[in-house]
Amino acid sequence: MYTESLVKLGKVRSEIRELFEYGMKRKAEIGVENVFDFSIGNPSVPAPKCVDDAIKELVEDFDSVALHGYTSAQGDAEVRKTVADYINSRFNADVSADNIYMTCGAAASLSIVMNAVLSSDDECIVIKPYFPEYGAFLERTGAKLVEVDPEDKTFQIDIENMKEAINERTKMVVVNSPNNPSGVVYKKDNILALCKLLKDKEEEYGHPIFIVTDEPYRELVYDDTTVPYLINYYDNTFVCYSYSKTLSLPGERIGYIVVSPKIANYEDAYAAVCGAGRTLGYVCAPALWQRVIAKCIDKTSDISIYKNNRDLFYNALTNMGYECVYPDGAFYLFVKAMEDDSRAFAEKAKKHELLVVPADSFGTPGYVRVSYCVNPDQIEKALPAFKALAEEYK
Ligand code: PLP
Repeated sequence: MYTESLVKLGKVRSEIRELFEYGMKRKAEIGVENVFDFSIGNPSVPAPKCVDDAIKELVEDFDSVALHGYTSAQGDAEVRKTVADYINSRFNADVSADNIYMTCGAAASLSIVMNAVLSSDDECIVIKPYFPEYGAFLERTGAKLVEVDPEDKTFQIDIENMKEAINERTKMVVVNSPNNPSGVVYKKDNILALCKLLKDKEEEYGHPIFIVTDEPYRELVYDDTTVPYLINYYDNTFVCYSYSKTLSLPGERIGYIVVSPKIANYEDAYAAVCGAGRTLGYVCAPALWQRVIAKCIDKTSDISIYKNNRDLFYNALTNMGYECVYPDGAFYLFVKAMEDDSRAFAEKAKKHELLVVPADSFGTPGYVRVSYCVNPDQIEKALPAFKALAEEYK
């Protein structure tokens, strides 16, 4: 009676949500302070003051009907100009307001781009470990999700594996850096090698292969890490950006797509994005929040808190004997489970009231994801539990 694949999707909660729900139940039973919940990627740092100031100013200065009314489907023209100018000032990318499409966050950006580009004959490559929701975003396109193994240990993109995975049906490659769940940032050489491979393959097959960059964590990088801006290196690029993590606004649903000015058949590419936004029923991104982000365009939440958490947690866990990928960005530690079965390992962790996500649904069994977007206090208090868990495997 109903669309079978969607009934299935609706009934199965993601492993992360499942654990998050368990955590809420457990906290009600034994007290919040006794459960060490590292399950979810909800920012723990408040939005910067400019967000509250912007809301106040907008409410005071703006005509209320216009403030809360529909904007153009692709987003308010002034906001798009502000976003484009900012991108140019930071990345020298030569984009204009006409390249920007405002969205309800990265999830909307990705599902719009996937629906704009892919159909059932196509293949979309994702690099392990990858955000499990990609499968859901692809669902209605009918395209095949193709998983590619990364380099051992470094979790950089394995160019040889990519070469093997690409065929004439490959139409899209999703690049998520900083990566959820590994925290790895792909190095510039690695990205350039990917671009070269894809350009060669485009020539060989005579059609574009699009790179879609999934960038909710772009600003969450530590020390002197930089994240290459792909539009500057590869013409057939869509950027899917979000303010969910950067400005700690995940519930407000705001982000944007950049359609590269150099993309194949630009006018049709942008039109397809607008068309996909319509068929998915987005109408326009939240009007108030479009204007808020324009007023806070060069601001972020206090990223140093995440950096301190990373240093504290990474050092403590590796000292205890945990094997951990060094994370240059995002707010996740990717930890090797101390037994082959990461689900069994996560279950054992639960006995110590530690909630960590088995990485099976990210395409990488054998690892767990530990979110450190939490109060530093929680990390300190959880360390004895991590120690006790490690002891069980000695
Ligand atoms: N992509 C990745 C890799 C994510 O981790 C997330 C959220 O956690 C999203 C996309 C969705 O982000 P948004 O809240 O902006 O829709």
